[in-house]
Amino acid sequence: MENIYLDYQSAKPVDPRVVEEMMPYFTDKFGNPASLHNIGDEATDTLETARSMIKDFINASEDSKIIFTSNATESNNLALIGTAMRYKNKGNHIIISEIEHISIRNIVKYLEREGFQVSKVPVDQYGIVRLEKLQNLINDETILISISTASNEIGSIQPFEEISAIARDKGVLFHTDAVASESVLPIDVNQVPIDLITFSSNDIYGPKGVAALYLRKGLRINPILIGGGQEFGMRSGSHNLHGIVGFAKAAEIMKREMESETKRLSNYRDILIKKILETIPKSYLNGHPTKRLAHNAHFRFDYIEGESLILDLKEQNIAAATGSACTSKTLEPSHTLISCGLLHEEAHGSLLLTLGRFTQEEEIEQLIKILPQVVHRLRRLSPLTPRELLKQYREVKN
Ligand code: PMP
Repeated sequence: MENIYLDYQSAKPVDPRVVEEMMPYFTDKFGNPASLHNIGDEATDTLETARSMIKDFINASEDSKIIFTSNATESNNLALIGTAMRYKNKGNHIIISEIEHISIRNIVKYLEREGFQVSKVPVDQYGIVRLEKLQNLINDETILISISTASNEIGSIQPFEEISAIARDKGVLFHTDAVASESVLPIDVNQVPIDLITFSSNDIYGPKGVAALYLRKGLRINPILIGGGQEFGMRSGSHNLHGIVGFAKAAEIMKREMESETKRLSNYRDILIKKILETIPKSYLNGHPTKRLAHNAHFRFDYIEGESLILDLKEQNIAAATGSACTSKTLEPSHTLISCGLLHEEAHGSLLLTLGRFTQEEEIEQLIKILPQVVHRLRRLSPLTPRELLKQYREVKN
């Protein structure tokens, strides 16, 4: 049987149209934008065209900045550490949400060791930030709010318009990590002012090893990589030009195709959620029922462990996840699910399915057929499963 890939949040294939666009930049068009000769000039033109294409993706003005980095972790480091160091004379307080990605959580731990104060805004049972708590946490020392557009794990979409309005009202900078949502949720900085945004290339079907940080017009932050002064002095190091070309092409395609892709994926997602909740007793949806990413379905099942589920699905050539790939090898329950109020044992029975550009309807159908059988099998083996459930459990026939 062919592999069924339902783990698009952890890695995406590069779109073949992107690969084609990148190819000449490995061989013929190999120049360095820092060089003064013709080949360098051509590379500079390519770099600036790519920069404009990324700005176009979020409707950013020409006088804003896109800083190319090597991955989303680096963009997040640059956003938080660069802002903290630049504005430390203004204040030393930073706010994040309780369910931020591990990269943000660990960066603020570092900043705490450097003397910054960090507050975490709680979320409701669906993982949505409590806006009134956010308002109350802001004080005279607050310089930055960093809250992702959406959860990469449970798929809940944050009210980032309201967060942006609160930040503006209080004169605090607002950074958002848009990695989880950038393939399914448009961002228009003309409509919703955001000061700093983290993007990654692979999350829109571009190559790995390249990402960006958007900076609102006029905003300066301190560099974290010091060297030759590339990227307006904010990120030194020679450019990964073929990667940047691929990233820009991926953004151009995504901008054009996002609307139809989102419709298709949310349709699959809704079928998946409905069928799984219908056919598997004691199954639940994690995250918000409607304010959720079009490609995200995150479940939990009583009495079984997510890891066993993943391994059983692996036997059937189905690739799925329990939660965030960046923390999948720890035994700790997901901090996101715990913040939503789940007990440790509930958080352990999770399954994250993420769909993408190359997902086919037959793959969804296969999953809907196989998953109830796998859950049933594991429940029969689990000492936690109540006998009544096993008795009344109706085996799903092929
Ligand atoms: N932010 C979010 C929301 C993510 O899901 C990830 C992981 N893909 C990252 C940041 C870090 O990305 P990377 O590992 O590519 O640096």
